[in-house]
Amino acid sequence: MKICRTIADCRTTVASFRAAGETVGLVPTMGFLHEGHMSLVAAAKEAADRTVVTIFVNPTQFGEAADLDSYPRDEERDLAMLEAAGVDLVLIPPVQEVYPDGDETIVETTRMANMLHGLVRPGHFRGVTTVVARLFNFVQPDIACFGEKDYQQLQVIKRMTRDLAFPIDIRGVPTVREADGLAMSSRNVRLTAQDRQAALVLSQSLKAAEEAAAAGTTIEALREVIANTIHAEPRATLRGLDIVGAEDLSDLTGPLASPAAIMISVEFGGILLIDQRVVTP
Ligand code: AMP
Repeated sequence: MKICRTIADCRTTVASFRAAGETVGLVPTMGFLHEGHMSLVAAAKEAADRTVVTIFVNPTQFGEAADLDSYPRDEERDLAMLEAAGVDLVLIPPVQEVYPDGDETIVETTRMANMLHGLVRPGHFRGVTTVVARLFNFVQPDIACFGEKDYQQLQVIKRMTRDLAFPIDIRGVPTVREADGLAMSSRNVRLTAQDRQAALVLSQSLKAAEEAAAAGTTIEALREVIANTIHAEPRATLRGLDIVGAEDLSDLTGPLASPAAIMISVEFGGILLIDQRVVTP
């Protein structure tokens, strides 16, 4: 497994793959890897001849410096996991390599970035699309894998890829969960034991919504089911609850008549967790 810390080194290695006629799959991450990330790696390996993983804690997508500074990191462990999974190249660029002259040039999906989770975390999706566009240009992959867990992010990246005509096939990969249902996240380790237990309310509320959807319901009733479940947990603070068209994130009201994406963000002692589910009538 080749480890690159510069764009130039990464490009040389990817060029050698291309010269051999091989296709390239990319998995962008912020490191501190878990089984969720590894399922993206498995999907990329399945879809392309060579797999490239990037580890970069992107400063432009964090609202608060404290959140950025406390983001968990463990490079040695990450590299051991990627090596064991048969990854071909890992790009771990310093901030200076990705933003040598700052972030004068930004990429933004203007509508989709500034709705839903984007309202809770202003500037977040602009930072994501800016860094992913740069990573796409560094690696120039044929396919790139992103988790459905970050549902709005996945839709934002699909839209950016289409609008900027990147010749890259964007693949969404289903959320990997702990045995008790909590969506795997690098942030989970920062929860206290009590908050970790209370965090089950995210997947429980989505399950309740799924059951209501299957029985026939309205968007308003779905909102109530989720809000009631989360409000019943005193350690949880509901920060975002959105039910939108699964493809275009459009507003929905009235009877559930087409696939809807439910996106929730819930805070536990300063740690923001997210989860999502697409429900069908
Ligand atoms: P992050 O390192 O948090 O930026 O995540 C990198 C990629 O892994 C993103 O595309 C996430 O959506 C994806 N991801 C994170 N957690 C999970 C999970 N539990 N299951 C599947 N994919 C995930």
